[in-house]
Amino acid sequence: MKNPRILVVDDEENIRLLFKEELEEEGFEIGLASNGFEALDKLKTERFDLVVLDIKMPGMDGIQTLNEIKNIKKDQPVILCSAYGEFKQDFSSWVSDGYVVKSADTRELKQTIKNVLGL
Ligand SMILES: [Mg+2]
Repeated sequence: MKNPRILVVDDEENIRLLFKEELEEEGFEIGLASNGFEALDKLKTERFDLVVLDIKMPGMDGIQTLNEIKNIKKDQPVILCSAYGEFKQDFSSWVSDGYVVKSADTRELKQTIKNVLGL
């Protein structure tokens, strides 16, 4: 089976590089975007099995980006990601497939990705 492709969207370069390195070790193929606009451009031309989407980003935040993604690709799986305590809303009201608190310890992220992909 070919490696699942994941698009990592985050405005912080250190997070993009950390997630890329950690997820490549798990055998995933990683694409990177540094904001919502770039993410939407990539999703229009490339297929990804999953999007890992930061919430707090300048320009278009992750919630807006999530809604735009679902407008163009209704079935695109998306996991939202943010630093602890940044958002206290009811995550279940959002149309994402998972939510992860951002951490240098990527175990929860990896597990959530596997759950969403059914691995
Ligand atoms: Mg951010």
